[in-house]
Amino acid sequence: MSFRIGQGFDFHPLVSGRRLMLGGIEIPHEMGLKGHSDADVAAHALANAILGALGEGDLGRHFPDSDPRYKNADSIRLLEEVWRLARERGWKLENADVTIFAQRPKLAPYLDTMRARMAEALGVEASRINVKASSPEGIGALGRGDGMAAAAAVLLESE
Ligand code: MG
Repeated sequence: MSFRIGQGFDFHPLVSGRRLMLGGIEIPHEMGLKGHSDADVAAHALANAILGALGEGDLGRHFPDSDPRYKNADSIRLLEEVWRLARERGWKLENADVTIFAQRPKLAPYLDTMRARMAEALGVEASRINVKASSPEGIGALGRGDGMAAAAAVLLESE
């Protein structure tokens, strides 16, 4: 049996006039994350962690933001495509841990739904994925609400 670990990080600026998508769900807020895709930092961090475990670079390499196919893309679809790569190579998910850094809004009411949505994308039980939020406590750009960030770690196990 063998294992691979991976980590992923992602950052996107917050702007007016965009939907806020996090962990594959829309969260009511007066601003949203800006990016070529739907800019879902949580899904991007998790996908980057999986690509890291596979030794497959990062999301930008697989889904370049110069490619019009990925404009406003649903990042859950990108996560599913990344996961297909892992499955093709015989990896299964032991667990994943995702942290979202956001000053506002309070994300606690949405964490379980994000967890279920991302677990569904990977075809695993929700218990294998943890989603938590951490407040930047007003510090720096994230604390001012200029944007949001997310970090993820995964452990893959050979089948
Ligand atoms: Mg991103």
